[in-house]
Amino acid sequence: MPEGCAVVSCHVERPLDDRAWAAFSRLQARRPGGFAIAALMRPPDLSAGESEALWLARARIAAARGPLGHHTHWGGPAQARPVDGDPAEHVRSEATWLQERGLHPRLFCGGGWYMDERVAAAVAELGYADCTATAFRPSYIQPGAPRLGLADPARIRVGGLTLLELPTTHSLGMAVRAALGRLPRYVHVYFHDTDLLDYRRRRTLEAALRVLGRRRRGGQLDRLAADAELDFSAVASVP
Ligand SMILES: [Zn+2]
Repeated sequence: MPEGCAVVSCHVERPLDDRAWAAFSRLQARRPGGFAIAALMRPPDLSAGESEALWLARARIAAARGPLGHHTHWGGPAQARPVDGDPAEHVRSEATWLQERGLHPRLFCGGGWYMDERVAAAVAELGYADCTATAFRPSYIQPGAPRLGLADPARIRVGGLTLLELPTTHSLGMAVRAALGRLPRYVHVYFHDTDLLDYRRRRTLEAALRVLGRRRRGGQLDRLAADAELDFSAVASVP
């Protein structure tokens, strides 16, 4: 990214909700600012009665329009960060479920920005690039709780493997301010599909992406690379 680039991803939390899905699907198809919006999709919670067939149909539509990613919620639809169990194993079993159904996401994002060393090694082993690191500290995460902090793409050494980390740098509000002000070299804007249910938020996001698209070349998240190499411990649980 010699002259800088911008990428956009959406945490697709509720693809089975017809209104949230329609809003996301329209936006992804329209490509505001010229951006191929990556769909980081939460697999269905079958034990909570979420429909596998409808989820797969919608995931295939999203995958045809932009990069596809795997977004894990460890505790079900409403609980993003893990509360018990083996977080790395949970990611592996969801990845197997996706692969067995012919879906091959190339990106990953941990729910609630959760990432630990074992999950990072599993994500690297699965061949995903990770978007869980953030350039900002989400206010609801206590200092010292597991997360990654990073502002630019890097290759992270973890468990004998290398994980390509493509950090998330801007929330919707931050993107609005940045679009009109100073932009870092690497910009990765994220939003939630549920943001799109609010008319004002949807209009604001689209306007910010259009401005951003005029100032930065739109990149495709699953095609980015990085040269810098860092140890996992250098980016983990930063304040
Ligand atoms: Zn989520």
